[in-house]
Amino acid sequence: MPPAQLTSTRLTDLSELLRQRHRDLSLLVERELHADGTPEVSVTTATDADWTAADVDTDTSIARAERDSSELTEVSDALNRVQSGHYGVCEACGKDIGYTRLLVHPAARRCLSCQQAVEAKRDSRSGLSRQPR
Ligand SMILES: [Zn+2]
Repeated sequence: MPPAQLTSTRLTDLSELLRQRHRDLSLLVERELHADGTPEVSVTTATDADWTAADVDTDTSIARAERDSSELTEVSDALNRVQSGHYGVCEACGKDIGYTRLLVHPAARRCLSCQQAVEAKRDSRSGLSRQPR
């Protein structure tokens, strides 16, 4: 059963947001993946600096495509949850994800406190400066 806080109007609004985001991201990823990666510098006159700049451009567009396609997966998962009636429920603690949080992050899987717990764990794992006690 969908959470009580999500009235059908709110759910319709949120799924509309998700569908728009899904459409935008699909177009974006499509464009990023099929962008012509050939640097626009002449092989004969290019300086090293030109090639370096071209490499950086290619790297960032790949990184962007990866980030956007993983967000696209998140958004389609969220749309599946709307279909199955599990949308808006935290996957970690089973409580409602707040409506205001969903407005900001329509594809959110966890409530704010669970999300913060996950991020704190991730930070402490990658934090090299932390001293073990
Ligand atoms: Zn939670």
